[in-house]
Amino acid sequence: MRIVLMGPPGAGKGTQAKRLMDQFQMAHLSSGDIFRAEKASGSELGKKLAEYMNAGALVPDEIVVSVMAKAITENRSGGGLLLDGFPRTVPQAQALDEQLAAAGKPLDAVAVITANDEIIVTRITGRWTCGQCGRIYHVTSLPSKTAGVCDDDGAALTQRSDDKEEVVRSRLAAYYKQTEPVIAYYRQRQANVIEVDGMQVPDAVAAQMGQALEELSGK
Ligand code: ADP
Ligand code: ADP
Repeated sequence: MRIVLMGPPGAGKGTQAKRLMDQFQMAHLSSGDIFRAEKASGSELGKKLAEYMNAGALVPDEIVVSVMAKAITENRSGGGLLLDGFPRTVPQAQALDEQLAAAGKPLDAVAVITANDEIIVTRITGRWTCGQCGRIYHVTSLPSKTAGVCDDDGAALTQRSDDKEEVVRSRLAAYYKQTEPVIAYYRQRQANVIEVDGMQVPDAVAAQMGQALEELSGK
C-alpha cells in the first residue's frame, strides 16, 4: 500500500505510523525525521532547514520536493510507502502525484488524523522521543516505565527543540493555512480520503484506521 498520513502537529501521525508499518509492511518516510537527521549532520542543507524549522514555519517547497523525491526513489521496501508529514502544501502534493504517476505507483489512500488545538498543545509540549529507536512517549498519557529512558532499548529520551508552546502555535497556523488545503486537493482528485478522530486512545485510532485501510486493500 502507498499511503499519505496527514493531520496537525501532535495528532499522532508518528505514533500511528509505527503501528501501520507492522500491519501493512510499508517503509515509513517522515519528512520531519529526515530533516532532523540532516540538521543534526551539520550540513549546509541542514543549516538552511533549521532556519525554518526552529521558527515553526514550513520549509520551501523546492527544497522539500527534492529531498523527498530522492528518499522515495531510494526506498527499497518493495513499493509499500507510508508518507508522514509530506506533502504539506498543494504544490508538494502535485509534485508527488507526478512522481508516483511516472513510476506507475499511485497512492492508495490519504489518511487524516484529526485533533483540536488544545489537545495538540498538551500533547506536543509533553512529547519525549527515544534518541535511538524513535519510539514516541508522552510525559503523562503514554509515559515510559522509567522517566527519561526508553522501555525498548534503555536509550535516553529527548525533547524536540521546536516542541515549545509558541513554536507549536506557529506550526498550527501553518497547518491550517498551507496544509489543510491539501485534503481538499485530494478530495477533488477523487483520492480515497479516510478521516479518523485522533482524540481517542491510540489503540482505538489504530483499530479504526487499520480497518478502513484493510477494506481498501481488499477492494
Ligand atoms: P505527530 O507525529 O502527529 O506530530 P506524535 O505521534 O509524535 O504526533 O504524537 C504527539 C504526542 O502525543 C506524543 O507525545 C504522543 O505520545 C502523544 N499521543 C499520540 N497519540 C495519542 C493518543 N491517541 N492519545 C494520547 N496521546 C497521544
Ligand atoms: P509535526 O509534529 O509538526 O507534524 P514534523 O516532524 O512533521 O512535525 O515537522 C517538523 C518541521 O519540519 C515542520 O515544522 C517544518 O518546519 C518542517 N517540515 C516537515 N515536513 C515538511 C514539509 N512537507 N513541508 C515543509 N516543511 C516541512
